[in-house]
Amino acid sequence: MSCCNWRLSLLTSFDVAAVRAQFPILQQEVNGHPLVYLDNAATTQKPESVIEAIANYYRFDNSNVHRGAHALSDRATEQFEGARNKVAEFINSPTSLQVLWTRGTTEGINLVASSWGREHLQPGDRVLVSAMEHHSNIVPWQMVAQEVGAKVEPIPVDELGVIDLAVFDSLLDERVKMVALGHVSNALGSINPVEDVIQKAHAVGAKVLVDAAQSIAHWPIDVQRIDCDFLAFSAHKMFGPTGMGVLYGKRELLETMRPYQGGGEMIESVSFAGTVYNRLPYKFEAGTPNIAGAVGMGAAVDFLRGLDRSGADTHEKQLLGAAEQALIELGGFKLVGRAEHKVAVMSFVADFAHPQDIGMILDQQGIAVRTGNHCAQPIMDQYGLPGTVRASFSLYNTQADIDALMAGLAKAKMFLA
Ligand code: PLP
Repeated sequence: MSCCNWRLSLLTSFDVAAVRAQFPILQQEVNGHPLVYLDNAATTQKPESVIEAIANYYRFDNSNVHRGAHALSDRATEQFEGARNKVAEFINSPTSLQVLWTRGTTEGINLVASSWGREHLQPGDRVLVSAMEHHSNIVPWQMVAQEVGAKVEPIPVDELGVIDLAVFDSLLDERVKMVALGHVSNALGSINPVEDVIQKAHAVGAKVLVDAAQSIAHWPIDVQRIDCDFLAFSAHKMFGPTGMGVLYGKRELLETMRPYQGGGEMIESVSFAGTVYNRLPYKFEAGTPNIAGAVGMGAAVDFLRGLDRSGADTHEKQLLGAAEQALIELGGFKLVGRAEHKVAVMSFVADFAHPQDIGMILDQQGIAVRTGNHCAQPIMDQYGLPGTVRASFSLYNTQADIDALMAGLAKAKMFLA
């Protein structure tokens, strides 16, 4: 193969220029260079439609929801609940009562661990998580397990970044009460076989929580089809605002779970003789919610639904293929995470420098990547690495971004090798 064949594969009908033009932040220079934003697994950028929806909410409609006897409150409530309906439809939830607003994936997982876990985990019970989970899908389970005397155990992951399903089978027994699994690894990009895992877990009576933080932006998720018990994700990783997320749960589980926090909104009535909790979803939404966040989430759903998602998926796959091939051709770098099924996350290390030094040189050239353990220390420890450089691509990235990254890495090699 000639040195530049990898560039030729970037032919797609997806109109990346038109999509990219909707993201004002990408039109700037950083450190004297056009911004090359390759930190999308940490957070995605926001299209004009999301920015405008949030600004217009504050400009014209700002008010508290559910309780005001005035026009602004009615408008705010309509947008807030309208966004919930959009999310319900987006993930094919049977009802919008099962769509709980949270601060993000982390809060959704903490809610389940705390509320469902305290109620259902007994001493000696087991919670399985994969060895490549983000800390937010490990620590909440460790906290509740410690409290109730249960155990959190890793599902092994191999050198390529693939879950060993045979070992998973052998770990399953009737003491396993919860399997909490990332749909996609943020550190390695591996796509996990959640449907298989859900079927197998259900066969022994375990519940399954899917951490969809890294998958929700990449393809449509149908909660009824995959049959997960819980699904958590964050708005900011799907072109929406920070501080906003969703927890979906099966209705029969949510109905019987105790509230996560107490306060206003989550009650039907309060007296010193006893308090009656509100119905779903409000039982889990104590306090004034992030109304602008919900509006932004609704706009992000509209943005995604307006896209050619399969074209975007093909485009991202082509970017990953081109970037990985270019990196190998450059030499001196090693890919970390080589699963056959991956999203466009390219994690790598160099044999001549620490990831952080490479990240600094890239930043000087306006290239934003992430370096470190990516909140996935157990898998980094397993691989004997302090961390990696992670370039994570989104649908607005281009061949020019890959060219800039490769030029930046060539420079890093020149300075550091
Ligand atoms: N799970 C995964 C796989 C992630 O990548 C992240 C964030 O990077 C999280 C959970 C936590 O998401 P948040 O910080 O939005 O709560």
